[in-house]
Amino acid sequence: MDQITIEKLTVFGNHGVYPEENKLGQKFLVSLVLYTDTRKAGMSDELESSINYGDVSQYVRQFFEENTFKLIERVAEKLAEGLLLRYSLLEKVDVKIEKPWAPIAIPVESVGVEISRGWHRAYIALGSNMGDKKDYLDKAVEKLKKHPLCKVIKVADYIQTEPYGGVEQDVFLNSALELRTLLFPEELLVLLNQIEAEAGRERTIHWGPRTLDLDILFYDDCVIDTPSLTIPHIDLQNRDFVLIPMVQLAPYYRHPVLNQTMSQLLNQLKH
Ligand code: ATP
Ligand code: CA
Ligand code: CA
Repeated sequence: MDQITIEKLTVFGNHGVYPEENKLGQKFLVSLVLYTDTRKAGMSDELESSINYGDVSQYVRQFFEENTFKLIERVAEKLAEGLLLRYSLLEKVDVKIEKPWAPIAIPVESVGVEISRGWHRAYIALGSNMGDKKDYLDKAVEKLKKHPLCKVIKVADYIQTEPYGGVEQDVFLNSALELRTLLFPEELLVLLNQIEAEAGRERTIHWGPRTLDLDILFYDDCVIDTPSLTIPHIDLQNRDFVLIPMVQLAPYYRHPVLNQTMSQLLNQLKH
């Protein structure tokens, strides 16, 4: 992707682990790589179509004046987050923070951290088959909409489906949604589990009745296999109640492991 760069912006701040750092302050050098599509600005020559690096530089200075953190890891993290939330055209940012006056007893040119943060696209499956099912799904969508690090882009129609997995139980209401998020996959799972818990979800029988079930179907094109998380969701290609909403949201999205689009997967399941 195209990049706008700012190198070694010199700002003054009070970040540091030592009290004298918090009191006296010191110099920081901030370098940014802003990933954004510059094509529109390149064609139109209009500043509104791009990210104003003057404005970004002012924001960085103000950020350093208004906040005090112990670690430059934290400074970089919060600065990246602030930039990504402030500039809607910003997809990803590399933040490098250097401390040329770092208080260490050995001569050093500078110490620093460099991180890369950005928006991710996730697809979430929603399901309920107890109580006021529609209300459980509505509330889950609302909670994701309100979360500061999430943006709900699109919600598929709610569909009524038959239970899956052989347990005798009430019919389900299912859907899926497209999310833009700054959360990492494990953090997103924690958030979803928290929303399930707030809906009174109890884990008793596997595939049994539940007030609310939220699964991560996809996260960018990531393939993740850990004890707590499998992405893409391991069984989605066998579930029409997942594929029908997914076809509505992203018919041409291609499963990163099976290499088939959502439409193709649904067609195969029908035949
Ligand atoms: P299924 O996963 O077959 O749809 P389920 O949703 O009923 O079954 P749960 O009891 O809700 O299963 O979840 C069991 C565990 O699955 C969770 O504790 C979670 O750690 C793990 N898990 C693994 N991958 C995912 C994922 N992609 N999304 C949500 N949970 C996942
Ligand atoms: Ca599930
Ligand atoms: Ca689940």
